[in-house]
Amino acid sequence: METVTRFAPSPTGRLHLGHAYSALFAEAAARDAGGRFLLRIEDIDRGRCRSGFEDGILEDLAWLGLRWETPVRRQSDHMADYRQALDRLQAAGLLYPCFCTRKDLRAEAEGSVRAPHGPDGPLYPGICRGLPDAVAAARIAAGDAFALRLDMAQAAARVGPLTFTDRARGTIAVDPESCGDVVLARKDVATSYHLAVTWDDALQGVTLVTRGEDLLHATHVHRVLQALLGLPEPAYHHHPLLTDDAGRRFAKRDRAETIQAMRDSGTSTDDVRARAGYPAA
Ligand code: GLU
Repeated sequence: METVTRFAPSPTGRLHLGHAYSALFAEAAARDAGGRFLLRIEDIDRGRCRSGFEDGILEDLAWLGLRWETPVRRQSDHMADYRQALDRLQAAGLLYPCFCTRKDLRAEAEGSVRAPHGPDGPLYPGICRGLPDAVAAARIAAGDAFALRLDMAQAAARVGPLTFTDRARGTIAVDPESCGDVVLARKDVATSYHLAVTWDDALQGVTLVTRGEDLLHATHVHRVLQALLGLPEPAYHHHPLLTDDAGRRFAKRDRAETIQAMRDSGTSTDDVRARAGYPAA
């Protein structure tokens, strides 16, 4: 089977060295296998994304010597696709509206001695899971803000035991409850990272998902979604995160470490590639 990889940045800032590493990693994985490398712009959260960043990202990647297939898929152009996937999960009775605010959730976590924790903090404690349909419908009609959450226990029961294969780690048993009832859409953004990424990787025929190991936990959710939606299972390679000389992860807020800043200060493409551990273009 042909290897198809992708780099999928969110245009919420300029790329830093950690992104450069991740993009070069994905491209090398495709090239080493004689496969194809795709680029996808993950801009579903319009409130946080800027088109200027998208242009800047494309410019930085080209400057790094990367070449990708066109057209580039931009998620905000395909909201109707994600809506359909969401509708299927809703029709299967696997979603419920959740009206909890961040403040509600903080208070709940503080008040409970042993709140189970997931990778992103306390797991959703299920406050709205049992809300009667009529109550939920009335609140939605009244214009209350809500998120749609996946009922993970039901979803897990529906799909049965699952695994995924990570090239660095081998076969991993999916632990659906590790992320709890994840949010799959909000009133204002009708999809989520989990849903859109899973849908697009399948739609674009991605056979090897490469990304940082900070997203390893998300793959548990993505395998459940693949099984629920009848999508193929790609292979995975969660790579270590590149760190600076002090061992810290690069972050979008570190302006000095953006590819743009390095370009502006006269650093060459090959120097940046070398800092990311890749040979000259
Ligand atoms: N868009 C995500 C990010 O920028 C990456 C998604 C992925 O590679 O699965 O963190």
